[in-house]
Amino acid sequence: MPLESETHLSESLRTHPRASLVCPVRGCSGTLIWESSQAICPQGHRFDRAKSGYCNLLQVQERKAKRPGDSKAAVQARRRSLARGLGVALRDALIARVEAWALSAETLVLDAGCGEGYFLEALCSRFGCEGWGVDISTAAIEAAARAYPIARWVVANADRPMPFAAGCFDLITSITARKNPLEFRRLLAPGGHLLMAVAHEDDQRELRGALFGELPDSDRAGATVTAFESLFDLEDEQVVCSRAVLDPMGLKDLLLGSYRGERFSAQEGLAELRTLEVTLSYRLLSFRPR
Ligand SMILES: [Zn+2]
Repeated sequence: MPLESETHLSESLRTHPRASLVCPVRGCSGTLIWESSQAICPQGHRFDRAKSGYCNLLQVQERKAKRPGDSKAAVQARRRSLARGLGVALRDALIARVEAWALSAETLVLDAGCGEGYFLEALCSRFGCEGWGVDISTAAIEAAARAYPIARWVVANADRPMPFAAGCFDLITSITARKNPLEFRRLLAPGGHLLMAVAHEDDQRELRGALFGELPDSDRAGATVTAFESLFDLEDEQVVCSRAVLDPMGLKDLLLGSYRGERFSAQEGLAELRTLEVTLSYRLLSFRPR
């Protein structure tokens, strides 16, 4: 049975968000009221909330998109990887990075392309901030909402205008996820922070080597800075690196659940894999809006 304080907390999470949601129906833009069973705008557009609490704000045409995001299998693979501890180094680095920004219950955080919610949950648990996770994958958001009622979860396309009012968020995170400079800039409050994790050159180097031979390393961090530099100033960057010994099952989950799973179909190579020590490496970039 939940403690009384937990009951109050989850009740307030259901009904009284501070972030302003905007109705996604074309030409409407009314303020969505986040109620216990639905979100509804003054014009009467309604979006039911699922039993687990999330709300699907994708428009009909977007629901038919060719790439609806991570499949349920990919989400489950990522969950297993996280259960093996593969997210711990990045999670702890994120928390350490934002520690200086004095996040509190007043802070509104958006995680764009939040996946199954691990990193946003960590920030909300640690700092008590109001967290919103957006992902285009219904499977990912469903998993997030079930596991982490501490935050609010919305199915929407982070590559397009997201259903929030301008200047709504104090912190936007994008953890090996979507990069939408214009939209991040629009949604960030004055003085806010943008924190992005991108794969570093040597991320999963051993796995890539075993599956595909030597692949040229791409400078994702450099490309990200270039994409954001007209709207943001790079404030700080650091490399977050860890290593893990993974058996074939662990390697398969890592591949399926990671960003590379979308790009490579490497099922045949996986059958040959033995236990491997794998590098997990990210660059953590923090930006201030100009
Ligand atoms: Zn509306």
